[in-house]
Amino acid sequence: MTQLESALKGIITPSMQRVAERENRTPEFIREEVARGRLVIPANIRHLAGSAGQTLTETAGTVPTVGRPVLGHPGARADAKLWVNQTSEQRRQELESDTRPTGQAAPNRLDPLGIGRMVTTKINANIGASPVSSSTDEEVEKLRWAERFGADTLMDLSTGGNLIDCRQAIIDHSTIPIGTVPIYGMILDRSIEQLEYDDILREVELQAKQGVDYFTIHAGVLRDHLSLVGKRTTGIVSRGGSLLAKWMIHRGRENPMYELFDEISDIMREYDVTYSLGDGLRPGCLADASDAAQLAELQTLGELVHRARDKGVQVMVEGPGHVPMDQIGFNMEVQQKVCDDAPFYVLGPLVTDVFPGYDHITSAIGATEAARHGAAMLCYVTPKEHVGLPREQDVKEGCIAYKIAAHAGDIARGVDGARQWDDDLSRARAALNWPMQFDLAFDGPTARALHDEDLEVDTDFCAMCGHDWCSMRISKEIQEFASGKDAGFQPEQRAQRSPGVDSNGQELLEKRRAKLPVVEDQHACHSDQTPTEDSARAVQSEPNAPEV
Ligand code: SF4
Repeated sequence: MTQLESALKGIITPSMQRVAERENRTPEFIREEVARGRLVIPANIRHLAGSAGQTLTETAGTVPTVGRPVLGHPGARADAKLWVNQTSEQRRQELESDTRPTGQAAPNRLDPLGIGRMVTTKINANIGASPVSSSTDEEVEKLRWAERFGADTLMDLSTGGNLIDCRQAIIDHSTIPIGTVPIYGMILDRSIEQLEYDDILREVELQAKQGVDYFTIHAGVLRDHLSLVGKRTTGIVSRGGSLLAKWMIHRGRENPMYELFDEISDIMREYDVTYSLGDGLRPGCLADASDAAQLAELQTLGELVHRARDKGVQVMVEGPGHVPMDQIGFNMEVQQKVCDDAPFYVLGPLVTDVFPGYDHITSAIGATEAARHGAAMLCYVTPKEHVGLPREQDVKEGCIAYKIAAHAGDIARGVDGARQWDDDLSRARAALNWPMQFDLAFDGPTARALHDEDLEVDTDFCAMCGHDWCSMRISKEIQEFASGKDAGFQPEQRAQRSPGVDSNGQELLEKRRAKLPVVEDQHACHSDQTPTEDSARAVQSEPNAPEV
């Protein structure tokens, strides 16, 4: 039974329990979200069992990760439990911990997580060997970098080297769900024109057996849509979408992924692989954003969401691409409506096209806006986007850019517990407590290095402004003075008797008492006693006037 089928039957699985622990939610809430299709838990039963692609043992489906501590950000707060707020140092320690399952076929390595807009925003990192560069060892190393720097899931997009071994190595070393685009494996030793239906089903089954947790299947690109891309600036930019378009034109037939959708679903159901319905017609530039081709494919994806669910298969939907900032909210709303709230997994989107080399930034800006409007998972973009294959450092930069986007989105959406982390770091910053600030920073070692580059002492200023100009330091002094919290300003006792008024004080009090006549216990200038402002002033200007 898949997570979706269990949820629909009212069963709370160990994976749902684990997701509930990690999200600070109740298991029943998670079950309801899964049943509704608004949340998916991509967890292939073989990856969960750590079977390394072999037939399942009786351990299948058990999730002893339930009950493992769920750490939030470092600091003094006992209620800091939101695990997505972990720093990269916490993640590194967890990955290197002795208690972590080790070995290639370690059961229970996968820590199930939920993807949906009612929980925290997730990020995905793409890696993969290409025919030009990279190796299995390098890809496993990239996986480690991705996990350490906050990737919640990882996609192996390998198109070169030994795809099967590389994929298995990645699955067997990962604590996070792994996704693939099976069509890449389908055309490894044949051209796209030679692809037959059997090849498709065989590859889907092979990868499901290996333990892949979710598949990108470009079943929404239909023959009818192809005429809509003719006027585009960048045509079809999805690899899977362009390959299938070529197949449809060559064969004169409908998209085979669409035709075989139910058969593919049956295989995926057996291993509880989740659909990530690919957006083969996503816009590849601002000029093509939200065009007829993209929206036509979205309608088909909406239909496929229901067909997948009817088969008991969990489903999320992929989204654009390159979208101007002002169209992002619209795109998120349309997807939610058309796809019946299936989790939206967006690539970026990039909000401008003219910064190659910096597209982790252009896209993180769009991703933040998407997260604010309810995108469930953000697929990272690295600085190498459009120009080359990402290396470890690019993976790190892409992950961090997207952690920023996801976290900013969670804050804007008011996700419970998201802001605690910021407020704690701000307190440490205001106190000029550098060790605590770096402990709380997502990438503390980098922040520490940048600080120490100029000044190797932790003191009440930094090299940015220097001592006399440090507004934090000045502000701290002012606050201490104004609030009276500084130890030197505190009274000896909270309540104590006045030592009395001296002769000067007595004289002052005499004058005040004598000079203002009193009428019925009120000063004579009180508004009850003086009809106008002028008469009040007159009383006040003659302080020794007799009582009336
Ligand atoms: S010196 Fe400037 S940048 Fe550094 S802590 Fe003070 S105010 Fe902040």
